[in-house]
Amino acid sequence: MHAPVKWPDGKRFAFTIFDDTDRTTMSNGPEMYRFLHDLGMRTTKSVWPLQGAERPKIGGMTCADEPYREWVQALQAQGFEIALHNATFHTSARAQALAGLEEFRRLFGAYPRIHVNHADCRDAVYWGSARVSGLNRLAYDVVTRYSMRDRAGGSTESSPYFWGDRCKEHVEYVRNFVYTGINTLKYCPMMPYHDPRLPYVNHWFASSDGGNGKRFMRTIGEANQESLVEEGGACIMYTHFGFSDFFENGKLHPRFVKLMTDLAARGGWFVPVSELLDHLRVVRAPHGFDVISRRDRDRIERRWLLEKVFVSRGTS
Ligand SMILES: [Zn+2]
Repeated sequence: MHAPVKWPDGKRFAFTIFDDTDRTTMSNGPEMYRFLHDLGMRTTKSVWPLQGAERPKIGGMTCADEPYREWVQALQAQGFEIALHNATFHTSARAQALAGLEEFRRLFGAYPRIHVNHADCRDAVYWGSARVSGLNRLAYDVVTRYSMRDRAGGSTESSPYFWGDRCKEHVEYVRNFVYTGINTLKYCPMMPYHDPRLPYVNHWFASSDGGNGKRFMRTIGEANQESLVEEGGACIMYTHFGFSDFFENGKLHPRFVKLMTDLAARGGWFVPVSELLDHLRVVRAPHGFDVISRRDRDRIERRWLLEKVFVSRGTS
């Protein structure tokens, strides 16, 4: 249906990572990013620009911590992309959400090109039931027992948590569905796409599930790597590198190191998420895949729901 994408410089496939910053600190972050740097991979790391005043459900360091901030700025100078994971690790009302965007710009020289919602924050942009439409929403509400309604304050104009106008103004890409397979493009060949039903997001992208170390290693297992290369596909991995199962006995998990080293040697295009999505937009532009059709939207929503119910309960 969709012609294979041609990758720059004769590369055979594309692989990148969006790292949700949960639980990342100066004791686990630098080792991971040194490893990625040495592999020649430039990926995307998210941050919380501001220190929250309340206790987080899931915390980690914010850019208010000076050594951490300096480390993240050094990563940016090395070619890693820095992106947004909400203003801080808990819900922000509008004033704080906007302050987070400004602080991001002050620290990193420009507004974030990508935003990804942090779990359980009321300033989320199109979270919960708002992610799915029509019958899929009905099914989602039943499966989640109607607990995921009103979870999208960030994109609800009447909400005190609304910042969707600024998201639309400054942010290019937002992550939506996460799937279990390695080739994200196979699940969502139209990405990055605009969904007119969700106007405050300019372009959505999908990801593959590497939410913790175990799932990351499963998704990039040997056979999956081979099919990614064979299909000439693209993987945008969703992960939390701050999670403890990326480490064993105080060091990076040996199986993770082996699988990533193998992958790095396979001749892929390893650029940050925005750069990969920009490329897809350019090569897809003549075919008009920018605005998603109802049919395609229905298909990717249904696929995600089925996986959520039968395969990967609890993933993003
Ligand atoms: Zn998070």
